[in-house]
Amino acid sequence: KLMTVEQTQQQIRGDLSRQRQYFSDGNTLDLAIRERYLSDLESALISHKDRILNALQEDLNKPAVEAFLAEYYFLLQEIRVVKKSLKKWLKPKKVASPIYFQPCSSEICIEPYGVALIVAPWNYPIQLALAPLVSAIAAGNTVVLKPSELATASEDLLVKLLASVFPPELVHVQTGGVDVSAALLGEKFDFIFFTGSTEVGKIVASKAAESLTPCVLELGGKCPCVVDSTADIKLAAGRILSGKFFNGGQTCFAPDFVAVHESVKDDLVAAMQCEMELVPWHLEMAHVINDRHYQRLSNFLVGLDDEQIVCSGEDDRSVCKMAPRLVMGINWDHCLLKEEVFGPILPIVSYSSESDLIEELRGMSDPLALYLFSESKDFCLTMQQSKRSGGLCVNDTMKQSSNLELPFGGVGESGNGRYRGEFGVRAFSYQRAVVRRGKLGAQWMDLKPPYGKLFPWLERFMR
Ligand code: NAD
Repeated sequence: KLMTVEQTQQQIRGDLSRQRQYFSDGNTLDLAIRERYLSDLESALISHKDRILNALQEDLNKPAVEAFLAEYYFLLQEIRVVKKSLKKWLKPKKVASPIYFQPCSSEICIEPYGVALIVAPWNYPIQLALAPLVSAIAAGNTVVLKPSELATASEDLLVKLLASVFPPELVHVQTGGVDVSAALLGEKFDFIFFTGSTEVGKIVASKAAESLTPCVLELGGKCPCVVDSTADIKLAAGRILSGKFFNGGQTCFAPDFVAVHESVKDDLVAAMQCEMELVPWHLEMAHVINDRHYQRLSNFLVGLDDEQIVCSGEDDRSVCKMAPRLVMGINWDHCLLKEEVFGPILPIVSYSSESDLIEELRGMSDPLALYLFSESKDFCLTMQQSKRSGGLCVNDTMKQSSNLELPFGGVGESGNGRYRGEFGVRAFSYQRAVVRRGKLGAQWMDLKPPYGKLFPWLERFMR
C-alpha cells in the first residue's frame, strides 16, 4: 500500500526509536549473539542461492558466474572471514600508561556506534547492501538498510531474506526511492554508510554534517588504466577488457578509460579488437540497469564516426542490452574522458610523454582505482607517487578489490573510509580510550591548588 511522505516519516521514526531502544538495552553487545546472527545470515544466503542469482538475472541480466562470484560467494567469504577473527579483532588492546599515573591500566576498546544507516546502489545490489551489513552487525550496531530502488527484484529479496534472519529492532530494510532516502537522512543516526555516486555522496555528507554524524562514503569516479610502452600488450588487452565488461562495465572500480603510450597504441587496439572477436561478451554480459542509463550511455557516442568505434554484437534497447564497444580517435577533452562512463564503453586515448600523462591524470579527480600495465618498475613507482587512488593494481584489473585482507575505499572525490573484513568492523566501530586507576598513586597527580612548590619541581623533572 502507498504511504504519504508524512506516514513514511512517521514509520521511519517509529522503527528508529525501536532500534535505539534495542541498542540501549544492550541487546547487540554479546559477541556470541552477533556470531550467531552472522551464521544465520550465512545459512539464509545458502538457502536463498537460486533466488539471489535469479533476482540478479532479473535486475541486470547478470550472468550466473558473475552473480555467484561477485555477490553470493563474495558475501559467504566476507561472513566467514569476519566470524573467524571477530573475537580477536574486538579484544581490547592493552597499552602502556605513564609512570606518574601508576597504578593504572590503559586499553583501547572497540565499541559499536549504535544505530547505523546503510544506503546501497544498484550495480551489485545484494553484495553492496549485505557486505556493510555484515560489518555493522559484527561490530554490534543495529541497521536500517536502504537498498537501491532501481534493482527491484534484489530489493524485494533483501526484504524477505533479512526478515527471515533478524528481528526488525536489529535490522530493518527500508524500501523506497530518493524521497525515502531523503527522509532517512533527515533523521538522526549514529553512523551512515553510503555507497553510490559522488554527486549524491555530497548530499549525504552535508546532511550528516548537520547532525555531526560520522559517515563512510564509497563513491564513484573515473578509474584510469595506463598501458606504457614496455607492457605485455596481449596480456593487457585481455585483462583490461575482462575487467571492463564484467557486469557490463557497471563496476565502480572498473577501468573507466585507457591511456596508452602512442608507440603501442595501434598494437593495443589490434589486440583488443582480436579479443572482442574471440570472446562472446555480447552473448553473456549484464545489461544496462534501465533506459535512462541506456540513454546516458548513448549520449557519449553522439558525433562519433563508425571508424572510431569497435563494437561486437548487437544492441537491443528494448531490454537495455548494449553491446561492448571500444572508442578510439578521441582526445582528453572528449565527454568520455570527463564523466564516469559506468557501462560497456571503453574510451582509449594516447599520451606521448610521462609528464603529459601525469598532468592529464592530475587534472582529474582522485579515483577508486588506478591500473598500470608495464614491465618497468620505475614507471610504476613514478605513477604510484604521482596520482592518488583508493587502490592500485599492476598488470591486471579489479584484483585489489577482491581480496578481503585488503581495505576497500576511495580517496578525495571517490570517497573516504575503508571496509571489508577487519576494516569493515573498524569502520562501524569507534575506539574508546579506557583508563582504570588504583586507589594509591602520587598525590600531586590529583591536580588542585594550592600548587605550592609543584611548578619548580615539574620544571626540573619534566624536561
Ligand atoms: P546513486 O548515488 O544514484 O544512488 C545510490 C543510493 O542513493 C540509492 O539507494 C538511492 O536511492 C540514493 N539516492 C539517490 N539520490 C539521492 C538523493 N538525492 N538523496 C539521498 N539519497 C539518494 O548511485 P547509483 O546510480 O545507485 O550507483 C552508481 C554510482 O555508485 C556510480 O557512480 C558508482 O561508481 C558508484 N558506486 C560506488 C561504489 C563504491 O564502492 N565506491 C560501489 C558501487 C557503485
